[in-house]
Amino acid sequence: MTVKKNDRLTVFVEDLTHDGQGVAKVDGYPIFIKGALPDEKVEVHVVKALKKYGFAKLVEIVESSPFRVAAPCPVFDSCGGCQLQHLSYEGQLMMKEKQVRSAMERIGKVHTTVLPVLGMDNPWRYRNKSQIPFGVEEGRVVAGFYKSGSHDIANTPTCLIQSEEADRLMLALKEQAVEFGLEPYDEKTGRGQLRHLVVRKGRTSGETMVVLVTKTKKISQPERLIHFILEVEPTTVSIVQNINPTRTNVIFGEETFVHWGKSHIVDSIGDIQFEISARSFYQINPLQTNVLYQKALEAAGLTGNETVMDAYCGIGTISLFLAQQAKQVLGVEIVPQAVEDARRNAELNGFTNAEFEVGAAEDVITQWYEDGRLPDVVVVDPPRKGLDGKLIDTLIEHKPRRIVYVSCNPATLARDLRLLEDGGYKVHEVQPVDMFPHTTHVECVTYLTI
Ligand code: SAH
Repeated sequence: MTVKKNDRLTVFVEDLTHDGQGVAKVDGYPIFIKGALPDEKVEVHVVKALKKYGFAKLVEIVESSPFRVAAPCPVFDSCGGCQLQHLSYEGQLMMKEKQVRSAMERIGKVHTTVLPVLGMDNPWRYRNKSQIPFGVEEGRVVAGFYKSGSHDIANTPTCLIQSEEADRLMLALKEQAVEFGLEPYDEKTGRGQLRHLVVRKGRTSGETMVVLVTKTKKISQPERLIHFILEVEPTTVSIVQNINPTRTNVIFGEETFVHWGKSHIVDSIGDIQFEISARSFYQINPLQTNVLYQKALEAAGLTGNETVMDAYCGIGTISLFLAQQAKQVLGVEIVPQAVEDARRNAELNGFTNAEFEVGAAEDVITQWYEDGRLPDVVVVDPPRKGLDGKLIDTLIEHKPRRIVYVSCNPATLARDLRLLEDGGYKVHEVQPVDMFPHTTHVECVTYLTI
């Protein structure tokens, strides 16, 4: 049958998209349905019928998934932050495992074991960084997260995946910011002062950093504001202002200064300590990062004699984990500021066997080989687009005896594993880890041997 706009259909949901929409097929024609879950029979109203696929609105759930739950968040339906709160946590982990397995089979044609996803015991309030936009709507101050696909704010009293400290500060500033001359910024007119509240939390230290991103430097009564913040959140050790006068979507501006306290907070992952400043890159869910990196460390199979290269090393988190058990670690990362942080973190933790270089992994690693620096193990943790083709070619040419692949995108992971397998490597089991409960993201660790 041909699906047309305004059709009312009863369909069976087979799958979920990467943004959490249910997928049903009518004679092979896919229909995307927001709010529908796999294994549900639902009645839908087709709102758009394109040539190859269509979109429908959920009218009624005829048969509900056993994993359906009521989303606990008050703004789940409009907010773009979470996609899966209507699916139980157990259901989410199963769905993510299926997503990884399907990428391996369909995209990579890689025949390997996909292990059950390692989830969190408590999958709430896991974020250590909250970036909360402020705005005005019908004359009142609103703050929360952006609605899905837009820059309108889903005004919320609480965000269940961010810290309680962030909630408290968000609510207090919603009520009081105007008193301190911090009128919320309006993206449409460019008027107003307070753009974002950023709250960072050191999980192990308990320290909180408060960053106010404003359009100009002006704060009418800074002393009173500091006092107010400390009263609302006594764990605050650092109050920072960042100034962003530009009319862009980018959160931070160039200028940052410390109003009160330290310029950074401290956090540990495993036995390694990190100093995090207002703008440093740092993993969002440190508890699960520890789980992921332990798996990466196991996958590296180190004995203490190895030279390890860590490509896409960021601030050196994985590198320093590896340095605990390797002879030497060479990290490469394209963002110079991150490399500075990596060097400082190595020094802070007393590592003398970790070196970092700024550059593109595909160029620097090729150069290292030319310089005769031969790794036993290469660890890669690329961004969503996966490994650069040149890096894959270099690895296949020089054949380090083990490659550990940490990935935030199962599709590009599967694609790259296929290429490495064609180049002579054998892929071992894939271990997914849930770093972002209630979203559709999933991380994986796997390793390859020659
Ligand atoms: N391993 C790090 C960060 C991984 S995120 C951690 O666990 O914290 C991916 C990183 O790759 C980012 O820091 C990004 O800046 C960096 N990157 C992107 N393209 C790159 C390239 N071509 N060469 C090296 N690093 C790159």
